[in-house]
Amino acid sequence: MNRSDALKTPSGVLANRRELAYRALADGTMLLPAAVIQYQSRDGERRYHPDRELFYLTGVTEPGSVAVLSGSESTFILFVRDKDPAAELWSGPRLGPELAVDRFQPDECYPLSELGDRLPLLLQRSDRLYWRLGRGGEVEPHIMAALAQTHLKGSRTGSGPRGVVDPGEVLDKLRMTKDAHELTLIKHAVEMTIEGHKVGAGKIAPGVGEWEIEAAINAAFRCAGGGGPGYGTIVGSGVNACVLHYVDNDDMIAKDSLVLVDAGAEYGLYNADVTRTYPSGGRFTQPQREIYELVDTARRAAIDFIAPGVSIAEVHDTATQILVDGLVGLRVLEGDPAELISEGKHKFFYPHQTSHWLGLDVHDPGDYARDGKSQILEPGMVVTVEPGLYFRPGQPKTPDAFEGIGIRIEDDVLVTAEGREVLTASLPSESSEVERLIKA
Ligand code: MN
Ligand code: MN
Repeated sequence: MNRSDALKTPSGVLANRRELAYRALADGTMLLPAAVIQYQSRDGERRYHPDRELFYLTGVTEPGSVAVLSGSESTFILFVRDKDPAAELWSGPRLGPELAVDRFQPDECYPLSELGDRLPLLLQRSDRLYWRLGRGGEVEPHIMAALAQTHLKGSRTGSGPRGVVDPGEVLDKLRMTKDAHELTLIKHAVEMTIEGHKVGAGKIAPGVGEWEIEAAINAAFRCAGGGGPGYGTIVGSGVNACVLHYVDNDDMIAKDSLVLVDAGAEYGLYNADVTRTYPSGGRFTQPQREIYELVDTARRAAIDFIAPGVSIAEVHDTATQILVDGLVGLRVLEGDPAELISEGKHKFFYPHQTSHWLGLDVHDPGDYARDGKSQILEPGMVVTVEPGLYFRPGQPKTPDAFEGIGIRIEDDVLVTAEGREVLTASLPSESSEVERLIKA
C-alpha cells in the first residue's frame, strides 16, 4: 500500500466513528477545520500536515475543508475549497464539492465560499458549539459572526449555542481506544520503524556522523512508502543522549560512547515511537552496561504490568520503583527508595513520564488523570513504555562513574483483553542483542 492508499479510511469505519461522536455531541454541533498550510522561506509550502481530528471523523485531508457535525441531526456537512485552475497549477488539483461527495460521502457538501452564509442556520438549533478557539485560520470570523447572529434572533428560531467547548471533550475519549483499522496502520508504522532502526543501527560506528544515522533512518522510512519520520529523528551520541529532545544530530560519534536513537515512521497518518540506545563500538562499557540493564529491567517490568484495569500511573510507578531501587544499589542515590520517590529525588535522573498515548499524534490526546484519578487502561489503547536514565555532565549530583551516560529504551504497547501486545517486540532491546545489531 502506498501513502495515498493508506490515507483512505473505509467509509464504514468513518460512519462508525461519527455515530459515536453524534451520541457524545447530543444537542451540540462540532466544527472541525482543516489544518492551516505552513510555509518556510517565505512562500515555500511545507508538506501538508492534515488535521488529525478532521481526518479521524471524516477521512478528509484537503486544506481549506470544514466539517460540520450535528449531534441531534446525526449529519455530516462538508465544505471544501472551490476549484481554482490558477492555484491548482502550483499546488495540485483540488477535489471540489462534486468529487468530495463521492470520496467522503457527506450528507451535504458545499463550496467553502458558502460557509459564512450557511453557518447561522446550521448552528441555531444546537445548545453547544464544539470549536477550538483560536484555530482554523479564516474560519473563526465566520463562526463569531454566526454566533452573534443566532443570539440576535433569539427565541424566534432557537437560542443558538450557549457555550463553546473544545472538541477534545468528545474526540479525545474516542481516540484513546483504537479500532481495528487504526491498529492495522499503527502496526504497519511500527514495522517500518523497526526496519529503519535496524538500518540505522547497522551504520553506527565511531567516526560516523549522527546526521548519517538520521539520514539512513529517515530514508528507510520514506522508501518503505510511509509519510517519513513522524517526528524529528533523534540521534544523540555521548552527552547529547542526555538532552531529551536533541534534534541537531550534528556531532561525530565517538569511541566507547552511547548512541540514543529515538525515531518513528508515520504511515496513513499514524505513528510509531521507538527508542534504542546502542554502544558505538558494539560493546557496552561496564558502567554503561550497569545503567543499561537497569533501564531495560524497568522497561520489561512496566510492560509486564500493563493490562486492562491497571492505571497508567501504576505503570509509571512500576518503572520508577525499579529505577530507584537500582540507583540506590549503585549508590547513586542514598536512602529509603519509597522516601526518595515521594521526595522526587529520582527526577534528577529520570525527569519524564514512562508512557504516553500513541496514534494519529505521536503524543496522542487523552487525559492521563481526571478528578485526581489516573486513567485506567482498556483494551485497544496504545501506549509507549519508555523509561530512561540521564547523567548530565557537570552537575554536582552526577556521579563521576556514570557522567555523560544517557539511556532510554522505548517500546509501543497495545492493551489487549488478555493483557498486552508489545508491537515493537521484534526490535531487540536485550543488551547482548543490541550489541549484535551494531556489529551486523
Ligand atoms: Mn520517542
Ligand atoms: Mn515517546
